[in-house]
Amino acid sequence: MEIIENIASMQAFAERKRMEGKLMGLVPTMGSLHEGHLTLIREAKSRTDIVVVSIFVNPTQFGPGEDYDSYPRDLEGDARKVISAGGDMIFSPSASDMYPEGYLTYVDVGKVTEPLCGLSRPEHFRAVATVVNKLFNIIKPHKAFFGQKDYQQSVVIKRMVKDLNMDIDIIVLPTVREPDGLAMSSRNSYLSEEERKVSPVLYKSLTIASCMIRDREKNARKILSAIKRMIEKEPLVSIDYIAITDSETLKDIDEIKGKTLIALAVRIGKMRLIDNILTEPQGS
Ligand code: AMP
Repeated sequence: MEIIENIASMQAFAERKRMEGKLMGLVPTMGSLHEGHLTLIREAKSRTDIVVVSIFVNPTQFGPGEDYDSYPRDLEGDARKVISAGGDMIFSPSASDMYPEGYLTYVDVGKVTEPLCGLSRPEHFRAVATVVNKLFNIIKPHKAFFGQKDYQQSVVIKRMVKDLNMDIDIIVLPTVREPDGLAMSSRNSYLSEEERKVSPVLYKSLTIASCMIRDREKNARKILSAIKRMIEKEPLVSIDYIAITDSETLKDIDEIKGKTLIALAVRIGKMRLIDNILTEPQGS
């Protein structure tokens, strides 16, 4: 597997493939790949000719005190996984090439970056939108693939693509989970045995909340309390936020009508875990 580290080489490769008439797919990641990423790569391969997997731990999207330095990195292992999933190329630039001295430009997507994870990570989505925009400019994909696991991120990217008239198809695929329901994440490997044992409570509480909505419970406050009660039974878990929102605007809703997002973030030990579920009342 060839790994391109140089931005100009990546641009030249992508341009050549486009000129050859190839349909280009991009799967942006921070590496330490797991089955969630591999599902995106396989799906990208089934829908495009050339699949580029970017592996870049983007320093600007980590806040002060977050885990940029300790974020798991395994480029060699990742390369084997990309091959096995049918990816064609890895793009893994250095931080100093992506943000050379004098770098000034950022993409601010506005309102949808503010609630949910934006509350405790105020600069995060500006940094994500910026790096994804840069990756789009370098790799020139026709289609880019994201996971529902980071639902707010996918909303931000879709908004950016629409608002800035970028000719790129954004495809969001369902969250891949461990057998006990925990959403796969590169950070899960840092959970202690005890922390790992309690972590399925996230998805369990989301599933119960989703059932309440499907059974036509309309009162968001009641559903939020049910999730909170379940999570608070686990002393190792502390809640960052639980929210029930409109699935597009990400604005809180009081009365559930149509398609609804239930999203949460918790801390378990040093780890911050997020999860979400999309649901709607049965028959609506
Ligand atoms: P990351 O490497 O965590 O930045 O994630 C890269 C891409 O993989 C993002 O679009 C994520 O939403 C997606 N992703 C991460 N975990 C999962 C998962 N468990 N299931 C599906 N997609 C995922």
